Order: sequence, then C-alpha cells, then structure tokens
Amino acid sequence: MATMVNGQKRVGLAADRRHSFYGRDIVSVKQFSREDLTYIFGVANEMRSIVRRVGTTDLLKGYVLANLFYEPSTRTSSSFIAAMVRLGGSVIPIHGVQYSSVSKGESLPDTIRTLESYADVIVLRHPEVGASEVAARYASKPVISAGDGVGEHPTQGLLDLYTIYSELGTIDGLHVAMVGDLKNGRTVHSLARLLRLYDTTLTMVSPDILRLPEENKQELIAAGRTVHETDSVDDVIESADVLYVTRVQKERFADLREYEAVKDCYEITPALMARAKERMALMHPLPRVGEIHYDVDDDPRAAYFRQMENGMYIRMALLAAVLGKA
Ligand code: ASP
Repeated sequence: MATMVNGQKRVGLAADRRHSFYGRDIVSVKQFSREDLTYIFGVANEMRSIVRRVGTTDLLKGYVLANLFYEPSTRTSSSFIAAMVRLGGSVIPIHGVQYSSVSKGESLPDTIRTLESYADVIVLRHPEVGASEVAARYASKPVISAGDGVGEHPTQGLLDLYTIYSELGTIDGLHVAMVGDLKNGRTVHSLARLLRLYDTTLTMVSPDILRLPEENKQELIAAGRTVHETDSVDDVIESADVLYVTRVQKERFADLREYEAVKDCYEITPALMARAKERMALMHPLPRVGEIHYDVDDDPRAAYFRQMENGMYIRMALLAAVLGKA
C-alpha cells in the first residue's frame, strides 16, 4: 500500500509552494488552493517562454514518465509526452492497454507497481471514477490523473483556468457559462471546482438530462458562488465572459437513443458569436463533434487552439513541480 518514502509523496510541510508540490499526487483539483494555482501558472509561464525561446531544456534529464491510458486520448497523452520530452526526460507510452498485460487480467495496482519500478512519475487515464486515487494509494511515486471516467480531469481543469487567465487577464469578476454535457463532462467538473475559488458567476447551460451533478452545484453554492441554470445559450451569449462548450459524451450513455436525442443540442455559429461580448473567450476541451462551427475558428475570441497549447505548458509545470524541479 501507499508509503511515505524519503523524498516521495511529501505533502506541503514547507511553507514554500515549491515544496508543497514535490512528490505530490494530482488526482483532484480539490487539493489546490489559490496560492497553488498562482504558483503553477507562474511556472507554466516560464515553460511557455522556454519553449518559445529554445524549444527544450534538460530540467528533467534522466527522469522517466509512464504514460498509462486505458481510454482514448489525443491531446492529453501527446501533450504529456511532449511536456516530458521538452523537459529533457523520457516516456514509457502505454496507450493501447489491449497490448499490455492489462488484457491478461492484470489489476490496476499491479500495473502501477510495475510501472513505478521503471518510472519516476505515472500519468493515468482510466474509465472508473476514483481510479487515480486508488493508483496513488499503491504508488510511492507521484500519480497524475489524466481523467477518471465521469469524475475529474484535473490537469485539463488547470489548463482551462490558466487559459481563462491568459485570455482575459483575470478570473475574479467573470461570468463563466458552461455549455453541453455538464453531467458526464469531467473537464466541467474540474473547472467548476476550480472556479469556486474565485469571485465568479456561473451559468450552466444544458438539456435537462445533462445537468451539472448536484454535488458540484452544491460545492459552488457553499463557496458563495451564484449558479444559474438554463437550457438555452441565448440566455448567456450576450453576458458571458467565458463560453466553455463541451461535447455530449456519447461513450457514457447506456441508451444510445438518449444520446441521439441530445447530441446536437448546441452549435456555436458566427451568427451567435456576433451577439457575444467583444472581449470574451470561447473555449472547448476538444474534441468537438459539431458544437462549434468551423467558421468560428478565425474569430479572435476562439481560444480553443491556444487552450490546447497551454495544456503542454501546464503539464510541463506539473511534471517539474511534482519531481521537485520547478
Ligand atoms: N478530452 C476531454 C476529456 O478527455 C473532453 C472530451 O473528451 O470531451 O474529457
């Protein structure tokens, strides 16, 4: 079971933020304070400038990342690989678990114990809620969640918040509208949890069957946030500072007829964007499957490609931080 090994899994004993990340697992955004976020965003800014100036650094030279994905991924997996490589480290990529011993029936704890004997940090995407916490309990090396089922996607939440800050220069005072599958969208759950730390107003836009889980809503309210709910983008398009659009998560539906009924519920078009604020950020965790029209891509407010690039800087910052090198 989990151990406290010298130099591993040390949790925030030092006042210094840098030490509070060293050896730490990243399994839920609930673990972060505003000070943590400010620190990580500062490191991400540095990573951005290193990449833009020289492309790579040798900060994590000699370190190895195990990138273990039990569910499909394009951006998260490749940006973790790119992040590690740009920091001078190496990667063990396990993306088709059907080709690993998982297909022979190996349990998650045994797979984690195996990988941590080769690697210094483990990134895990898994279909079950709470899987990263389980993995973290068994591992003595840091485990970073890359999404656990319909639970959370903490690193996406961080990069989303970082994008809001980069695009608009502030987070406090904003009206953030989240649109689409708020029930199954793990990125929504993580971002909403992070936004509770800031003076934000939130509007949740979804069909009735895809509403934000009550738990997430109550957390926001308990933190003093105002949460509105509607099923119409019309209600928010003129007032939103951030429009965070998500895909209806087809893979989470037991009954595909239900998916068919809601899959095309929202589409952001140039006509709709014409009614939005001049200064706002249109975001999407991607992949999009029709929620944002391709003609919107050239709109300067369309932030989703910058958002995806930010993912690499945030993941560089997190890898460096948990390995004590930030
Ligand atoms: N890529 C994000 C995720 O893994 C969003 C999505 O798939 O819709 O949760």
